[in-house]
Amino acid sequence: MARRRTGPTDVVRAIVYERDGGACVRCGAREGLTIHHRVNRGMGGAREEWINQAHNLLLVCTVCNGWFEDNPRASYGAGWKVRRPQLPSEVLVTYADGREYQLTPDGARALMAVTR
Ligand SMILES: [Zn+2]
Repeated sequence: MARRRTGPTDVVRAIVYERDGGACVRCGAREGLTIHHRVNRGMGGAREEWINQAHNLLLVCTVCNGWFEDNPRASYGAGWKVRRPQLPSEVLVTYADGREYQLTPDGARALMAVTR
């Protein structure tokens, strides 16, 4: 029996890695990196097509990935997490350099604000 695939494809992972410059979006670390879902996949895996598209994914280190779960208020505020029914394309993401970007499904990011 084939196991149902619930994560992003290798191609999408590579796109996210490239878009985020090979560094953790929150702290800039270049080691221990993983792919983080902004909107949680939820029980039973991905139902929506966009769950595993680039704009719902961030390159983060495992430390920050855990930090998001412990600090939901700050994580939602910075766009590292997105609360349904908001869509990942609607919420800007703050990167480690303090710049805010809008992410698109094709793996591009548009600079929207410089906060520091
Ligand atoms: Zn980090």
